[in-house]
Amino acid sequence: MNYFQPNDLNSALDVLQNNSDLTIAAGCTDLFPITNNMSLDKNILDITNIKSIKGFQFNNKETKIGSATTWTDIINENLPSCYDMLKACAKEVGSIQIQNLGTIGGNICNASPAADSIPCLLALDAKLELSSANNQRIIPIDEFILGSRKTKLEQGEILTSIIIPKEKENGSSSFRKIGARKYLVISISMVACRILISNNIIEDISISVGSCSEVAKRIFSIERQLIKKDINEDIFNQVDFSQLNEISPITDIRSTHVYRLKASKLLIKDVVKDAINKQEIAR
Ligand SMILES: Cc1cc2nc3c(=O)[nH]c(=O)nc-3n(C[C@H](O)[C@H](O)[C@H](O)COP(=O)(O)OP(=O)(O)OC[C@H]3O[C@@H](n4cnc5c(N)ncnc54)[C@H](O)[C@@H]3O)c2cc1C
Repeated sequence: MNYFQPNDLNSALDVLQNNSDLTIAAGCTDLFPITNNMSLDKNILDITNIKSIKGFQFNNKETKIGSATTWTDIINENLPSCYDMLKACAKEVGSIQIQNLGTIGGNICNASPAADSIPCLLALDAKLELSSANNQRIIPIDEFILGSRKTKLEQGEILTSIIIPKEKENGSSSFRKIGARKYLVISISMVACRILISNNIIEDISISVGSCSEVAKRIFSIERQLIKKDINEDIFNQVDFSQLNEISPITDIRSTHVYRLKASKLLIKDVVKDAINKQEIAR
């Protein structure tokens, strides 16, 4: 087994270009559970020593989250309230040990239908920066994840940053997930919401649901019905929840499709109300 642990991004991209059989490893909290061995049995590119892909970078146009930023880093960072949902998600990933090692980039690239970060990142209109030795491309997160464990990551590429546009950093946010127990839980459903209210009117809202389809989805049908509603009125009055066509919940060992659908509808109401309350408190 070959093991590479470069200290800078260019060296990592060179190693990746010259070795076609490398597995990229960050916190290994997804990689280890899929091997039965005491150690990883593949050729490894360990990216955890590369400082430039860790932590947050802020400028007037966007915020960049390094792909090797851990859940604990996210919890500890001082962030505007549109990131409350991402912090809430981070606090519920696995356990403290998993949060100390697991990275946001690993969560995205593993592309599990139950990956908790994806609904939050969809609600923030996140884009992904993919770097290789000779190229860099940026694609929206909803185009990157093609299905369960399937992404558009190409040979020779590393996910280097998650990019959040500045205009999406207004307003407040909320995240909730439900599972069979409180800790170390794989979600049965999870919902993230970002909301912007001006003069009591909902000016912008994004709602996403995960664990209820192969890939987490934005719920545009509900967003459309909530926009321009007055928060002093019953905003869910006349909102049609009957379809929710964006998701296609399945029955598996964790839940039935009927329960998932019902739970998602209730979670949507909960997170929207919670996000509204947070913005009201902040005023
Ligand atoms: C006990 C336990 C509980 C868990 N609970 C949760 C939970 O509640 N919610 C949840 O969403 N997940 C959970 N997970 C899954 C896992 O912890 C997260 O998905 C974590 O964020 C993965 O990050 P990592 O750095 O450990 O990824 P790794 O295991 O290092 O990598 C995962 C995959 O992504 C690839 N990869 C990693 N980084 C990059 C990069 N920068 N560029 C390209 N490819 C990359 C790797 O090659 C691999 O295919 C849990 C796991 C365990 C073991």
